Amino acid sequence: MKKAVLLFVYFYFAVNGAVYATSNPKPDPGRVKFITSDVDNFWKMHARLKKAKTYEDSVTTLKKYYLDKASSGLKEHLADETKKGFEVAEWYLLALKSYPKFFASIKQHTLSINQQKKAMQAAMIKEKELNPNAVFPDIYFVVGFINTPGRFLNSGSILIGTEFYALTATTDTTEFAGTPFAVFTEAIEPLDGLPFTVVHETIHAQHRTDRKDLLTSVLKEGVADFITYLTMGEFKGGTVAMHAYGNANEEKLWKLFKSDLEGGKKDAIYRWLYSDGSGDMPRDLGYYIGYKIAETYYAQATDKKQAIVDIIEVADADKILEQSGYANKFGATR
Ligand SMILES: [Zn+2]
Repeated sequence: MKKAVLLFVYFYFAVNGAVYATSNPKPDPGRVKFITSDVDNFWKMHARLKKAKTYEDSVTTLKKYYLDKASSGLKEHLADETKKGFEVAEWYLLALKSYPKFFASIKQHTLSINQQKKAMQAAMIKEKELNPNAVFPDIYFVVGFINTPGRFLNSGSILIGTEFYALTATTDTTEFAGTPFAVFTEAIEPLDGLPFTVVHETIHAQHRTDRKDLLTSVLKEGVADFITYLTMGEFKGGTVAMHAYGNANEEKLWKLFKSDLEGGKKDAIYRWLYSDGSGDMPRDLGYYIGYKIAETYYAQATDKKQAIVDIIEVADADKILEQSGYANKFGATR
């Protein structure tokens, strides 16, 4: 792994069918574990790191106070990173050395995540009311070396890299400015949006499709945002600005999306999802399009319970779009 290429491998939650195939997710949202011990350990280690005199001292401190004490979720994640070629200890020390002000500024934010557990649990209980079939993965909160916002672990849990959800007015991102990693300041999400993100990710554990085409992918993201909105009653984090932009440009966005859908080009997906924000529109507007289709499908359905199941499972994206009638909103039939 080249050290000249600094940190920031853009990584998204891999949405797939692996989660519900494991025994880890629990049917009772009251039994979901929110594991934050890795965040606590990270900052204890960080404080001790200042006493390290040599690079070897730093490696020893990192291992003794963070890596060796890792939760099973963090251990699994780091084993996967090692398999991908990351020298984990080196990357952690490189991140801390390259962005000291950033890390110092997020300490209290990441430690405050404990206070958000109640909001997450309450939303999951509502999610269960909406969808009695729902199962809930345990959630591991960790501090990473700025390369993974979050992912599903093969063991069935969710892992969140809290350094990606620590943006407040006091977060210092000046070290990224003017570097190729300035985009990081766009990728980092507001701290108060974390519960929304966590609930959104639990909904990905309920899909019943392996399709990865544009419409299915956009619907998975939009449905996850829509159900999360129903459970929390408000948008949080990046979704606030996304919906403001989307609502102001809804018809234009739909027409662009429709032409991409009909064009069938494989790389069209990167205009709507998983983009780096370097295009001519805000990134990830596929979440918005998927949300509007899900919302419209739900609004027209007479059997609301079944409608929730239909959109969460995303078993037939084409049928959902057609029955929603969303395309007709702009005077066109599909
Ligand atoms: Zn998602």
